Amino acid sequence: MHKGLLFNVVCKPHDSRSVGVYRIAHYLREKNLDIEVIDWANYWQLEQLKELFLSRYNSSMKFIGFSFLFSQWPDVLEDFCAWVKLKFPNIKIIAGGSSNPKFNSKHIDYFVRGFGEYAAEVLLKYILGNGSAPSFSLTAPNGKKIIDAIHSYPAFPMESLMVKYQDRDFVEPHEWLTVEFARGCMFSCKFCHFPILGVKDDTSRSAEDFTAQLTDAYDRFGITNYLVADETFNDRPKKLVKFADAVQTLPFTPWFSGFIRPDLIVSRPDDREQLLRMNFLGHFHGIESFNHASAKSVGKGMETEKLLNGLLDLKKFFTTHGSKKYQATLSIMVGLPFDTLDNVMFTKKWLLDNWQTQSFASFPLGIPVNEMDNKSTFSLEYKKYGYRDMSQETYEQCIAKWPNVAYADRSNVFWENDHMNYFQADEYANDLASIKYDDQNFFAPGVFHLASKLKNSAGLDEKLKLNAKDFRNLLDDRPSVLDSYIQKKLNYQG
Ligand code: SF4
Repeated sequence: MHKGLLFNVVCKPHDSRSVGVYRIAHYLREKNLDIEVIDWANYWQLEQLKELFLSRYNSSMKFIGFSFLFSQWPDVLEDFCAWVKLKFPNIKIIAGGSSNPKFNSKHIDYFVRGFGEYAAEVLLKYILGNGSAPSFSLTAPNGKKIIDAIHSYPAFPMESLMVKYQDRDFVEPHEWLTVEFARGCMFSCKFCHFPILGVKDDTSRSAEDFTAQLTDAYDRFGITNYLVADETFNDRPKKLVKFADAVQTLPFTPWFSGFIRPDLIVSRPDDREQLLRMNFLGHFHGIESFNHASAKSVGKGMETEKLLNGLLDLKKFFTTHGSKKYQATLSIMVGLPFDTLDNVMFTKKWLLDNWQTQSFASFPLGIPVNEMDNKSTFSLEYKKYGYRDMSQETYEQCIAKWPNVAYADRSNVFWENDHMNYFQADEYANDLASIKYDDQNFFAPGVFHLASKLKNSAGLDEKLKLNAKDFRNLLDDRPSVLDSYIQKKLNYQG
């Protein structure tokens, strides 16, 4: 049996185990390959990575892979790849992620972009000498070829989205793992650059596939907390009933957290009942804007008053019935069409007056135009929606005032419209976010932040009691958690 190692390059600062690498590993094991996952690879030291590699290496090892999110690629991994290539030149190195790699690596041989089960299978057959060359339709910054899995080997819908963790993953009971129910979103919001939008039918996995995964993780590791990866979990009422029924058959009570489209749950009272039956009590709502014209212009047209009253009604419902395990985060985007500083001020006041004990997150509108990014409608035709490229003079003034913004977001359009520009939107979003950390306020930490095992390994109940500021200042468990995990991996004799 051929074997390979898959290293997970986790996304700082959240640091939770992402699911993609485990899903690929599971799929490849079903194809008779021996795949081991090594998590938190970007926190390992070079000598530790070498030691692990040497302890696993034999003539059946033909490749190693790296799974990344948001293109993070630290020097330690580049140095590790250089060492592998020097000592074991026959080992092929693959990297894959949901987005295109923007980093430059001299040593990675092949890249895969997008949901990659089928692309990885085709590529590995090629590497192992059992298949022809895959379709490489894109080129990475280092000139190496990329497989565009989304278009060339689409892994959606999938009948099974099963992930089974292994003893050598050293999963611990307090961790939050990630689960998928379906891939893609039925909507097509104009700023959204997820790769699979406008999905027409319910393509969710079977209830049996889902319960088998959760039961396995509970029986073997005691796992009950889950992040849900679906872009919009409550897209279809039948799907909610299907999985609420499935959860009721489990011999334990899980807890879920994920993306819940707010206008749907506000207008469909049964959604809340089904989510309650599932114990799906961590809600991340893409509100985008409290200004109706702005939200409507991107495809979220519910009247603001109805939406805000509906959110308060939901808060009341879930805090009453949710066994003190409800936590909702509103996601707000600054700089949509018709958005103004006055809107941001209104949003701030509403949050302070109505949304304390819950959470929110705020971002400037990003319009990605880098050729390596998925494109949103705005990416393709932002000028039609009132945006312009900044003049060189304004751009230089903004860079001088906000140099870090310019550095961090250089793959976005530096836009301006009649109300603000990208740099101002970033400043307004940061100003809004700052009220979460004021001493006199009590906002909860963001629902996805709670999931980080490295930041703090406390249990769910303990984390749900914290405010955002206390959570941010929590003792960082990273050194002890990482050291324990790395030592277990290095000592594993399997
Ligand atoms: S923003 Fe959310 S609801 Fe809109 S298309 Fe993207 S994933 Fe779907």
